[in-house]
Amino acid sequence: MAKKKKFETEAVRTQTERTQFLEHSVPLYLTSSFVFEDAEDMRASFAEEKERNIYSRFSNPNCSEFVEKVCQMEGAEAGFAFATGMSAVFSTFAALLKSGDHIVSARSVFGSTHTIFTKIFPKWNITTSYGSVGNIDEWEALIQPNTKIIYAETPTNPGVDVIDLEKLNALAKKHNLLLVIDNCFATPYLQQPIKFGADISIHSGTKFMDGQGRVLGGIAVGRADLIKEIYVFSRNTGPALSPFNAWVLSKSLETLAVRMERHCQNALKLAEYLEQHKNVAWVKYPFLKSHTQYAIAKKQMSLGGGVVAFELKGGVKAGKMFLDALQMLSLSANLGDTRTIATHPASTTHSKLTEEERLAAGITPGLVRISAGLEHIDDIIADIEQALG
Ligand SMILES: *Cc1c(COP(=O)(O)O)cnc(C)c1O
Repeated sequence: MAKKKKFETEAVRTQTERTQFLEHSVPLYLTSSFVFEDAEDMRASFAEEKERNIYSRFSNPNCSEFVEKVCQMEGAEAGFAFATGMSAVFSTFAALLKSGDHIVSARSVFGSTHTIFTKIFPKWNITTSYGSVGNIDEWEALIQPNTKIIYAETPTNPGVDVIDLEKLNALAKKHNLLLVIDNCFATPYLQQPIKFGADISIHSGTKFMDGQGRVLGGIAVGRADLIKEIYVFSRNTGPALSPFNAWVLSKSLETLAVRMERHCQNALKLAEYLEQHKNVAWVKYPFLKSHTQYAIAKKQMSLGGGVVAFELKGGVKAGKMFLDALQMLSLSANLGDTRTIATHPASTTHSKLTEEERLAAGITPGLVRISAGLEHIDDIIADIEQALG
């Protein structure tokens, strides 16, 4: 294989073979199946004696290219692409765990992941214990003889806490456990969990990877032996990414570096602006010196990410008033878009939790989450400024 090039170059130049038309941009392979030369070719393909496409539930050139790019970016051996981030999360656990196994997870995880842990896995006798994001040293006490996986997202949603990957890896290695990280908020451009020892890194492609609010997608990359198990599970249960979405996502990766630079630059400027505002109680952004885990963020991330969290003085009422006063920013549950998005978790995504449960997950009454988009920072701040007034 040719010498590995820089991140941006691999993102643009990693490409499946050209067809006889010598196209410059990668074509879209909208085909459900592939044909064989003869019976022997078909036999050998099914026996996995040769690596080739058989059926798009198993593999497709567009999906393979997307996987190849993310593997290059993350320094991973192999990967599999999924229809959504959640199918990547679910299939990874389902492939690697069996009845009776146990997970140690950060308390603060994506809502649907939490539902899988609390409502779906218990049906199959897979249980989960939760550690606080602020103190990894406490997690060791949660490990049981049947624990198999340590799981976390960093930075977390919506609190933007940062979890020490080096410490998680030391804990996982000491107890011979797998370390699985949801790297969705950081993207492979800002953070590569595998370099810190993670066995699997998972993404929702729907967020910053596509970054333009167009498609759903997901991916898991990591150790080849584990990806093989995830592949066998997925090939037979059918959560594969569609070729069209793979084509969109692979194209999106070509601009990931430049988009993330601007998302992060806008988010940092916004965080600095909010920090000095009189109606704001506190601001959390990984690359603000005031962030409790600033040193950890600096160690494991190249930039602070595109998401800022802040607490409005005045609680739930102030949060709803703020959202209503916004003129340009979008009110949406999504994040990682070209458009700046504001959410107020206490009155929306987390309104079904009790006040106590919300606080345990770090969701304070006046917490607002902003996913900084690619509009000019002056216009983003101007809208927030008038809404804060
Ligand atoms: C959105 C998200 C997911 C789920 O991704 P989908 O593509 O919506 O299924 C998982 N983890 C994190 C951290 C997310 O933000």
